[in-house]
Amino acid sequence: MTKIMIDPGHGGKDPGACGQGLQEKNLTLNMAKLLRTYLLNNYKCQVALTRETDVFMGLSDRARKANAWKANYFISLHINAGGGAGYEDFIYTKLSDTGTTAKIRNAVHSKVAKVWIDANRPNRGKKKANFAVLRETSMPAVLLENGFIDNMIDVILLKQKPFVDKLIKAMGDGIALGLNLPVILKVTPDPKPITPPKKEPVAKPKAEYDVRDVIKTQQSIVNLIKLTEEEVKKLDINKDGKIDVKDVIMILQRIVGSL
Ligand SMILES: [Zn+2]
Repeated sequence: MTKIMIDPGHGGKDPGACGQGLQEKNLTLNMAKLLRTYLLNNYKCQVALTRETDVFMGLSDRARKANAWKANYFISLHINAGGGAGYEDFIYTKLSDTGTTAKIRNAVHSKVAKVWIDANRPNRGKKKANFAVLRETSMPAVLLENGFIDNMIDVILLKQKPFVDKLIKAMGDGIALGLNLPVILKVTPDPKPITPPKKEPVAKPKAEYDVRDVIKTQQSIVNLIKLTEEEVKKLDINKDGKIDVKDVIMILQRIVGSL
């Protein structure tokens, strides 16, 4: 199954970019967890995160973790800063525009950039950079810069759950498109489940023996012993020419039934 490593940028002592009361490390971790849930709910794949909590992790450690897990794809989530606005993403500098990594990035970009464009925010484009997580990962990798934390309008959008949900869906669907992930078919449950028919209550055996019952049983057994040849033939109740276990069981059932 296809393995996707999601890398929430920064963490712990490294808050990343800060602005408008937000820290990049918290936004990226929140996005990473939502993206994992979205992918697992909608596509057949395995997902892992380079960090699950607010801890510091070096760039090379993130790449090593993905390499050790033998991830098929690596997606690093970041929020930009420095006076710009809108969206951009990166693949490693030395890669061609027609290779596998570029093709997967094109799929992710087409979905995610559209969400920003639809919100009237700039699409800064498909870029390349010599980032450690892109250089040191041994599988196709991408780094997303979802908006600028020092841009008031980008931050207003990033604080809105419906907008973040759109970004998550776009990232998930873009990854799935790029990696050809199989869709999980959602089966509508039967509104009225068939209930099994109620079983007739089984009579519990008597806990104590009645003296009269014992006497009747003894009489029946004595009668059986006194049988003539004709009567013995009658013991072949199931008419198979033999007096066997099946006949005995049927006889005993009749005796018990007549008590
Ligand atoms: Zn960052």
